[in-house]
Amino acid sequence: NRIIVVGGVAGGASAAARARRCDERAEIILFEKDEYVSFANCGLPYFIGEEITERSKLLVATPELFRKRFNIDVRTRHLVQSVNVENKTVSVLNRESGEVSEEPWDRLILSTGAAPITPPLPGIESENVFTLRNLNDADAIKAFIAEHGCQKAVVVGAGFIGLEMVEQLHHLKLETDLVELQSQVLPPLDPEMARLVQNELTDHDIKVHLGTAVDTIQTENNTATGVELGNGTQIAADLVILGIGVSPAIELAQAAGIDIGERGGISVNDFMQTSHPDVYAVGDAVEYQHGVLETPQRIPLAGPANRAGRIAGQHAASTSADPMIAPMGTAIVRVFGITAAVTGLSKKFAERSQSKNRSIIIVGKHHAGYFPGAQQLFLKLTYDPETGRILGAQSVGREGVDKRIDVIATAMKFKGTVRDLAGVDLCYAPPFGSAKDPVHMAAFVAC
Ligand code: FAD
Repeated sequence: NRIIVVGGVAGGASAAARARRCDERAEIILFEKDEYVSFANCGLPYFIGEEITERSKLLVATPELFRKRFNIDVRTRHLVQSVNVENKTVSVLNRESGEVSEEPWDRLILSTGAAPITPPLPGIESENVFTLRNLNDADAIKAFIAEHGCQKAVVVGAGFIGLEMVEQLHHLKLETDLVELQSQVLPPLDPEMARLVQNELTDHDIKVHLGTAVDTIQTENNTATGVELGNGTQIAADLVILGIGVSPAIELAQAAGIDIGERGGISVNDFMQTSHPDVYAVGDAVEYQHGVLETPQRIPLAGPANRAGRIAGQHAASTSADPMIAPMGTAIVRVFGITAAVTGLSKKFAERSQSKNRSIIIVGKHHAGYFPGAQQLFLKLTYDPETGRILGAQSVGREGVDKRIDVIATAMKFKGTVRDLAGVDLCYAPPFGSAKDPVHMAAFVAC
């Protein structure tokens, strides 16, 4: 069995390692077009902001480790240019030597990720307008800040990565403006929950511009000096970071005639097989069955990519695996002193998907109120008023947000109802929670 993996970070590295664990004799080759494999892209904002100080810590596994520990042939700086599903080969460009070779495979796993969206704006090509996807991008941003002593930044896009960058640029003492086209920060949340995050941003002197886009990037000698917004606002900047979303890297699959779904990602089944059963795809490039909507959706997050990679690796090596459990877009972000997290559908998404839905919000304490240090926590639950099935939850607070959302995400995995949640047996002692936890209180209100 000759297994070829394309892309060596979240999904690809997981797939290759799992394939080896399931078949000692398979020949496993991993092609990565860039220099590094298995790096922690989720850690990049914190490396830029110097909260993570050692660059080497981001390199979770090296090609040597893959070779020694797993007998996996990792070839970095090798770009897979095309896939031939009839002959079962890939054409690979060695970016160092310029040589092109045809490599045969029995099973092929695509984990090509996604590309940051860059709108065709005047000035977008300037040397100090950056997107952040990999270690090279992080190195370039860090080097530019250090070399030019940047003092003012504009971050475009108030999603998860945009907010992490705002926090980290503030940590570096850059005066930072945040621009978001929608009328709220963190678009996956409902507006009143997002407002709590916005307040934390303004409390840290971040200027937040909502409901307007960057129209022009002003430049001088190929260097951005500021941006002009659709509402006429002009903002001076030494640095512009774009965090306005990603588009799935589907080119290889599409050119090979593999089915692409309605949301623009590669279509896969529960074992991550594409429309060609010996070609698997995972990660940001695919559409997963969504755990609540039960339709294919793009969920560009690390958890699903790692789990799907593991399933694809096992199935490619052994032709069997447990099916992928439908993800629900569970995500979390720290913004200065507060945390915001979400799982499943917010109210506004539930409305759009026309599910019958109702929402409640409670304000609780992250542990017993009488125990020192109790912090306020907002929890919003969205559910089906007829069946009680939980459709989603959002939480914002200073402490304990992750625990509540993870508990509810777990209940949702089992298609739990608000009645299930009201009875869930959570651990309790005053420093950790309450006998009636915010999760219970939300469920009591909903029941
Ligand atoms: P990637 O990990 O991007 O790997 C794709 C790889 O394929 C790339 O290295 C690319 O060079 C390579 N490749 C592409 N085409 C080819 C080709 N033709 N030939 C050879 N190689 C190719 N998710 C979370 O859940 N939580 C977080 O906190 C979080 N933070 C993030 C912060 C940042 C800054 C970024 C960029 C992402 C973050 N994510 C986070 C998202 C998460 O990193 C991705 O969902 C995950 O990495 C997707 O895995 P993947 O394998 O699909 O793609």
